[in-house]
Amino acid sequence: MKRRSFFAAILAALLLCAGCAAKPVTAQSFALDTFITVNLLSGGDEQIAQDALALVDDCEALLSAHREDSEIARLNRAPAGEVVPLSPLVRRVLAEALAIAENTGGALDVTLLAASALWDYKSEDPQVPSEEALAEALTCRGMDRIALTESGASANGAQIDLGAVAKGAIGDEVVSLLRERGVSCALLDMGGNIFTLGDKPDDSPWVVAIDDPRSDGYIGRLSLRGDWSVSTSSGAQRYFVKDGVVYHHILDPETGAPARSGLLSVTVAAPTGLLADGLSTALFVAGEEEAARILEAHYPQAAAVLVREDGTVRILGDLDFTPESAA
Ligand code: ADP
Ligand code: MG
Repeated sequence: MKRRSFFAAILAALLLCAGCAAKPVTAQSFALDTFITVNLLSGGDEQIAQDALALVDDCEALLSAHREDSEIARLNRAPAGEVVPLSPLVRRVLAEALAIAENTGGALDVTLLAASALWDYKSEDPQVPSEEALAEALTCRGMDRIALTESGASANGAQIDLGAVAKGAIGDEVVSLLRERGVSCALLDMGGNIFTLGDKPDDSPWVVAIDDPRSDGYIGRLSLRGDWSVSTSSGAQRYFVKDGVVYHHILDPETGAPARSGLLSVTVAAPTGLLADGLSTALFVAGEEEAARILEAHYPQAAAVLVREDGTVRILGDLDFTPESAA
């Protein structure tokens, strides 16, 4: 787990603090396997910041496949055909993940739980799973098995893992809460997923630094105005090296093995966190040409920064990106 995005948020926060009239409130927790930082820059107080962090925990408890009592774990355990009642958030996340899967030709596949479990990035002595084990794990795959009803779903044997969209979806919930409570200027960092809320009083843009997947530095910066979510999916985020080969955590749904699409990282800026998060994972899997086609055909409201294996960058859509060399 990387801490750099946390520092990116702090950098951005420092750059923006000068423009905010009220005293900023900052609160931090560890959730979703990462550091969560809430920076309230206008209209917030300590209670709101704490409520925002508590909301992250509540949402994680519903969405995490790794919590035995989560709605997703219940869905995964239910026998084929059984409809499990879901809270509106979980049902909506599933529905939107299905839509992104459809629009990305299956590059996003939230039924890779069994395949993901075979890749133990935290182990001291990580092993590459066998072809047989991967093939067996892929028998629990299939987004077409998921059947949504008005207020629930059945998984019909699919093993669901919302890891590729959960942080984005939960960030959207936090941003809604902040808005409802009167916060007009905020920055939320959820480890690789950044959310900006509102405009800075001095009218300068938000600045979000993007990690260089090949080093500890940054590849460049995005300047944004208003409400955005920026999500990065990177092969350098969670990985192990075995016999000189890097095995990272973004999987090709066809093989259950790390996706090799020629990209080192994909950063997506979109109006919602769920879309930014889902698309950053999907476009990483899809590769450069397919990513360009997907954004143009389905997501004109989103834009992306692709970092290729040779370290060069391609911008898709309308983005104010400054390469680090020029920053
Ligand atoms: P991170 O969780 O590091 O922010 P992502 O948003 O890209 O990164 O999500 C990666 C996670 O999603 C993996 O850890 C795994 O649980 C799951 N996953 C891996 N490959 C895919 C895929 N092709 N589609 C959907 N989920 C995936
Ligand atoms: Mg994602």
